[in-house]
Amino acid sequence: MDHPIEALVAKRADSLVATLLDSVRIPSVSLTGEGIAEAVAFLRAKLLAWGFDVEVHETSSQPIVYAEIGPKDAAFTWLTYGHYDVYPADAKQEGWKTNPFEPVVDGDRIWGRGAGDNKGQHLALLHAIALYRELHGELPIRIKVILEGDEETGSRPLPEFVEKHRDRLAADLVVYSDGPMYPNDQPALLWACAATSASSSTPRARSATSTPAPTAAWRPIPRSNSSTCSRRWSTAKARCWCRARATPT
Ligand SMILES: [Zn+2]
Repeated sequence: MDHPIEALVAKRADSLVATLLDSVRIPSVSLTGEGIAEAVAFLRAKLLAWGFDVEVHETSSQPIVYAEIGPKDAAFTWLTYGHYDVYPADAKQEGWKTNPFEPVVDGDRIWGRGAGDNKGQHLALLHAIALYRELHGELPIRIKVILEGDEETGSRPLPEFVEKHRDRLAADLVVYSDGPMYPNDQPALLWACAATSASSSTPRARSATSTPAPTAAWRPIPRSNSSTCSRRWSTAKARCWCRARATPT
């Protein structure tokens, strides 16, 4: 039998997908600023409706949406990240068969700019949190969410934001879904621990699984591929650490 949250996801599938489609319809292009205000308003309204405390931080470029949820005195804190901006879409040059900002559902795929980077990922996560709360009431942990609008232009305001709010961003675990692109049929799990990052930050890391045991199903990805993951946090000397576990299936 399905876990209750899986049953709820199945029951709400149409509306969950509809939210993603609405998000993809917003052409939030960080390079030009087009659609950014609309995307920020969209996320703010959704996060508030899902019960998050929400702040919109102005930066030297696009705003950062920051949200928290869960008990303030929780023993465990999870920090996650996503980006609501997308790269410009030149439909002709890139060979789009449909309008990049008018998403099309085709079987189990959605064709639209940002559906797979990163609107689909961060909305899946936020939906999961909202549905969990609907089923179980309050969360057992505190969750902190950063949604930036400059990932596609180099995340320039992010280090300053992290440095400025490092104490608030302190977390036991950092997990997010955004990284290098691999072929569609190749799942990827990137991991990094603050104590092993090549930076000048002062390591305060602890990790239960700093060296995952190599198995046929789980091999650490070479450091060069994990730099995107670790750079953002190490550059800003964020006081956070991450650990990753892989459960081969
Ligand atoms: Zn991305």
